[in-house]
Amino acid sequence: SEPLLEVKNLKKYFPIKEGIFKRTTSHVKAVDDVSFTIGKGEAFGLVGESGSGKTTTGQTILRLTEKTEGEVWYKGQNLHDLSKEELRKLRPSMQLVFQDPYSSLNPRMRVGEAIGEALLEHKLATKEDVRDKVLEVMELCGLAPYHIDRYPHEFSGGQRQRIGIARAMALQPDFLVADEPVAALDVSIQAQIINLFSELKEKRGLSYLFISHDLSVVEHLCTKIGIMYLGSLVELAPRDELFANPLHPYTKALLSAVPIPDPTVKRERIILKGDIPSPANPPSGCRFHTRCPYATARCEEEVPAFRDLGQERYVACHIV
Ligand code: SF4
Repeated sequence: SEPLLEVKNLKKYFPIKEGIFKRTTSHVKAVDDVSFTIGKGEAFGLVGESGSGKTTTGQTILRLTEKTEGEVWYKGQNLHDLSKEELRKLRPSMQLVFQDPYSSLNPRMRVGEAIGEALLEHKLATKEDVRDKVLEVMELCGLAPYHIDRYPHEFSGGQRQRIGIARAMALQPDFLVADEPVAALDVSIQAQIINLFSELKEKRGLSYLFISHDLSVVEHLCTKIGIMYLGSLVELAPRDELFANPLHPYTKALLSAVPIPDPTVKRERIILKGDIPSPANPPSGCRFHTRCPYATARCEEEVPAFRDLGQERYVACHIV
């Protein structure tokens, strides 16, 4: 499909300041040379452990934080070149849904008001029709009309996430960054919210950057998946190929945690040792070498290139 979003060699470095003069002594390379494309109506899953840079990638794309280097093209415009005014006009079209919608909801504001406020601010409704428009978007997101005058604390976690999504959907976006939107929910509720995301994709032609630490969460929604480790993509592939034939040892490790419904399918199991190293002090060479069961001396010295294998598959590993 036609590209909606193109991320090219994106970098976001945070300075580490030390000493009484707060001199910048080094940088945390939170996002280090990340490139991918999201087509119109496509759901792209960005997966990795916490500390991999997924959230910073999402926020830098939305220009909630400024990039260090690289380009982000959205609907043919270079986002980081836009003025504040141009960006403000584009804002409704790109929305963010968080893990914890409660923290972004004003506890003293009725749900209908919280959704209506966004509509009025962006002139997508008038005082006369705002209530109807709020009810419409609530219905779209699976919220019964009688909830309109209730307060956030009266809702369960899953319903609150529906409110968060409704507030984003009220602005009629084309693109949603969903950052761990189901991580705080029970598994049964997670499935309902993921179904809602798929329905919205069908009904509204929405595109997603869906961020998760859990591959099984993105499996049903996302048709393209990028695996991130310590600031960089290590593998990028269409979903079906990634699940059927993961190439990078880290992808294999993440997949080892995903149950296989078909017992005749055999999958190599890699159980990861230890935690992700500090992004402030990443390992040399292949950043995964401290946890990789296949690491050799070469892996400690040489950074593996992110190679194009054809058929939309990319991988960064010396032994693939
Ligand atoms: Fe493992 Fe080496 Fe491949 Fe890195 S380059 S994933 S350490 S085998």
